[in-house]
Amino acid sequence: MREIQKEVGEWHREKFGETTYGLLWAIISKIEEECGELSDVQCLSAIQDTSKELPMEAADVAIALMAFCDRSGIDLEAAIRAKMRVNWCREWTQNDKGEWVREKE
Ligand SMILES: [Mg+2]
Repeated sequence: MREIQKEVGEWHREKFGETTYGLLWAIISKIEEECGELSDVQCLSAIQDTSKELPMEAADVAIALMAFCDRSGIDLEAAIRAKMRVNWCREWTQNDKGEWVREKE
């Protein structure tokens, strides 16, 4: 994952220039936009074949996130591994509405 994050970061710097505070916020807006597109395609999957679009929209989310992390000095792989160690220790239960909620720690 570090290799692809580095490639995304290089591509992003080449296309969009040096890191500024405003650019970091623009990338966060892009992540939100791409999450919306992923959500839209997932909704469409109920009525049509989205097997080609869904992976591309998931990739857009990951690319925007990797660009943000690379420019912010975040090792995304290390961060995910650290957070997964936390997640593995958490317990989840389903409430009356069928929603999964985290048990108090
Ligand atoms: Mg997209």
